Amino acid sequence: MMPVRTITLGLLVSLFVAAPSRASMMPPMEDTGDRVGGVTVITRLEAERLPEGRHDFYFRAGWRNTGAPIHVPVVVVRGAKDGKTLLLTAAVHGDELNGIAVLHRLLEKLDPKTLSGTVVAVPGLNQPGINANNRRFPVSAGGGSLVDLNRNFPGSVGESGSTSGRYLGALWQGLIRQNADFAVDIHTQTRGAAYPLFVFADFGNSTARAAAHTLGPDMIKNDAGQQGTLETSLMKEGIPAVTLEVGAPKQFQGELIDRAVWGLQNLMRAHRMVPGSVEQPPVKAIVGSNYTNVYADRGGIAVLHVGLKDAVKKGQDVATLYDAFGHEIRTYTAPHDGWVLAVATDPVREAGSMLVRILQ
Ligand SMILES: [Zn+2]
Repeated sequence: MMPVRTITLGLLVSLFVAAPSRASMMPPMEDTGDRVGGVTVITRLEAERLPEGRHDFYFRAGWRNTGAPIHVPVVVVRGAKDGKTLLLTAAVHGDELNGIAVLHRLLEKLDPKTLSGTVVAVPGLNQPGINANNRRFPVSAGGGSLVDLNRNFPGSVGESGSTSGRYLGALWQGLIRQNADFAVDIHTQTRGAAYPLFVFADFGNSTARAAAHTLGPDMIKNDAGQQGTLETSLMKEGIPAVTLEVGAPKQFQGELIDRAVWGLQNLMRAHRMVPGSVEQPPVKAIVGSNYTNVYADRGGIAVLHVGLKDAVKKGQDVATLYDAFGHEIRTYTAPHDGWVLAVATDPVREAGSMLVRILQ
């Protein structure tokens, strides 16, 4: 007869093998059974559990008022070796398109055989906004409105809330939250304005602070973030995240896109996801923790006297506003020393619109 102790241990081992955890019994994604152009439509994803290789999905994040589903493209590159999961999102604002090209180009360069960990890329998160050529998510209810998704993360929980809240909630709960050890959310300035390559980061988090520098931007703003942004919502969950601003909306800016791709590759080297040592960025970033907008105080035609990244002194002329006849209305000056972080690219300015943004 075997000693009781041995039998007990054997039983325990067989029980453990016979009863895997509930999580591991579930497939790595919830397949709706739908296929669009041959692409699998899912409503839940655990990217780390996918086999090595590249996987393209559509994530069903809701329905239009026509009854048609809204499909968000998701690309997973699962590496041959274990490592961190990097979440990359673009076009949370539907007219901020440089990030789509950044992700497409980065994905081309990733080789699952040399990748450690997982990249989850969402090249076009705000599909209704992209369709509508708009920064915001169009909502029909209540006579129609436009919702800024990047002020409303993490969306609503379960089957409640507005259509945009449910859209964000579906993405947050089914895709975003469980597929990020760290994250970069890619934006641009809004229409009629431009940024250089610029990062918003909360330096209170050492991983976010390091990421801001590793991405190699021209400028960085260190702040605690804004309520409802994807970056801040991830940080609240303990997931380090930064917002990467790549130039101007509604265009592809090749040089800035190339620099952003380099920055993301450098970030992946820093986190040992791809081979090679982290490199010193070619530009030294200007870091500030405040900025001031110089606004047009009435409508008019603006001529700027400064360009992106220029150093400015307090009292220096930054822009002149003209009336419809070309008569000068007013010349605006810098309210403090600093560097030009954003400029109006559209010379036709409404009262209250930004002319120049100065970082200090
Ligand atoms: Zn944006």
